[in-house]
Amino acid sequence: MLNIILMGPPGAGKGTQSELIVKKYGIPHISTGDMFREAAASGTEVGKKAAEYMNAGKLVPDEVTIAIVKERLSKPDCANGYLLDGFPRTLVQADALKTLTNEISRPLTHVINLIADEDELINRIASRRVCPNTSCGASYNLVSKAPKVDGKCDLCGHDLILRDDDTPESFKVRLEAYKGKTYPLIEYYRQEGLLKEVDGLKAIDEVFASIVEVLEPPYDCN
Ligand code: AMP
Repeated sequence: MLNIILMGPPGAGKGTQSELIVKKYGIPHISTGDMFREAAASGTEVGKKAAEYMNAGKLVPDEVTIAIVKERLSKPDCANGYLLDGFPRTLVQADALKTLTNEISRPLTHVINLIADEDELINRIASRRVCPNTSCGASYNLVSKAPKVDGKCDLCGHDLILRDDDTPESFKVRLEAYKGKTYPLIEYYRQEGLLKEVDGLKAIDEVFASIVEVLEPPYDCN
């Protein structure tokens, strides 16, 4: 059973690695960022509220975020595993997740933290482009994962865009939120005995190979 959290600072490659993980293991990808972007694009009340926080680079309030994850994780497709990407981001969210996963008997099995240094993150965010089609959402990097046709999504052909919150100002706020509120979760999950760290600065396929090694450790016959 793979009940996974993929953690890391903004720009560490969570979206790209999530795509590879869900493809290989066939588990649902639960990205709170994607869920908020979809809600914002559909113009729902939650979406409008979330967009104000997102565009400023701030975290959406815990109670709103926990509620959407609770609803999503309780769906039947999560019974055989799930991948959480971008959740939890605060200690309150981590505690709520622990209670929830125990209640629904779907406890976490792995927490993978992608490590990347700040200078590299700034470069990555500047060259990130995403597909705004909510049923696609593919992510590209003009340097390391360029689309085959300039400016177009390989998967659905939509025009690629720079995310509203990938501006240098918004990125700074997101990084501060990460350092202040999300970074302490690394220690939290280390103490739970669930944390595995992976170098997120290597090539995409090398990072993925390290993740697979964490999820499928070599059999030890001793
Ligand atoms: P992401 O796509 O994971 O980078 O998330 C984009 C934005 O969505 C974040 O900068 C936050 O504004 C919001 N968001 C996503 N996940 C969370 C979360 N777990 N808690 C609070 N806000 C979140």
